[in-house]
Amino acid sequence: MSCNYADGLSPYENKGKLGLEEKFDAKLEVSRKVSILAEWIKNSRHVVVHTGAGISTSAGIPDFRGPNGVWTLEAKGLKPQKNISFDDAIPTKTHMAILKLAELGKVQYVVSQNIDGLHLRSGLPRSHLAELHGNMFTEQCKQCDRQFVRNGSVSTVGQRSLNKPCSATQKNGRPCRGRLHDTILDWEHNLPANDLEMSDYHSCVADLSICLGTTMQIVPSGNLPLSTKKYGGKLVICNLQPTKHDRKADLLIHSYVDEVMEELMGILNLTIPEYDVTKDPTKRSHTIQLEWTIPNSDVKRLRNLYEKKCCKPKKRKIKADSDNLAQEEEEKKIKQEETECPSELISVEDIPLKTEMEDNCCVLQEGIVLS
Ligand SMILES: [Zn+2]
Repeated sequence: MSCNYADGLSPYENKGKLGLEEKFDAKLEVSRKVSILAEWIKNSRHVVVHTGAGISTSAGIPDFRGPNGVWTLEAKGLKPQKNISFDDAIPTKTHMAILKLAELGKVQYVVSQNIDGLHLRSGLPRSHLAELHGNMFTEQCKQCDRQFVRNGSVSTVGQRSLNKPCSATQKNGRPCRGRLHDTILDWEHNLPANDLEMSDYHSCVADLSICLGTTMQIVPSGNLPLSTKKYGGKLVICNLQPTKHDRKADLLIHSYVDEVMEELMGILNLTIPEYDVTKDPTKRSHTIQLEWTIPNSDVKRLRNLYEKKCCKPKKRKIKADSDNLAQEEEEKKIKQEETECPSELISVEDIPLKTEMEDNCCVLQEGIVLS
């Protein structure tokens, strides 16, 4: 079904580096590296996991740039043979291990580029998940912007109308009745603001970012883990193919993600839970609407945490000969600038497409682009 998703997107020529050769570390080497990762997880305060299509291939969903990826085969005029429907796929060992780690407070946040909805279906709560490119199992209202979980995947991609009214209630008690659309981004679409802002803040405050199953070629998603490094944290990359940021990684693991997660959980003395259909919000028998909107209060809380850790107050000399009024004005200005953290935060309008994020934490960028 990834093909149907891919077919639904508008044409886009530059799909990045495709079909790069996969590398496999020897078994002992993997064990050695996973022990280091386990140690780092134990000693970290704030861990963020960044996931790409590589974590869903064992569920039967093809990736995009792997040797048998959708874009790799497309370039050869072929289509993947393995191609399960999104509704039939179930979360992998990696999804379930991430859920367990999040439940135990060992992982604080998950930033996913995946649209397959498997994190949601594993039971991972919205408070712990950003879906930067949308989710096949959610829908959004054009009027009130709220998102809802669906019982089954959407039939459209590219934020098209689902011909369905929003059944949410407005603050004044009246029904919203806006029109619902799918949440799947096409190439030129803006990334969902709250998902991106949350991912950005979490990546900045994290002391450990773990990238699983992504070649990190898409921006801004692929550059977010670099913010962790910028503020003194560690970067771990687990992928079979080389990634764009291998040279910046503190630890590089070339192995199947499911095997890495199994070994990791073993070292941490934790069991990977089985996928439980009764905890899958997309398989509910009742019809109560389940909201999937990131509350603005969550974003505010993270912004505060980010400002506390990452924004240094700007010191500016106040002229000794200033009169009182000028001095008051100056102090007011400094206070405001400190709150706004001007050296770090950049407004959306200032950022052209394809801007690298390395030097700019908290960049809100438009569209999914290859860097
Ligand atoms: Zn609405």
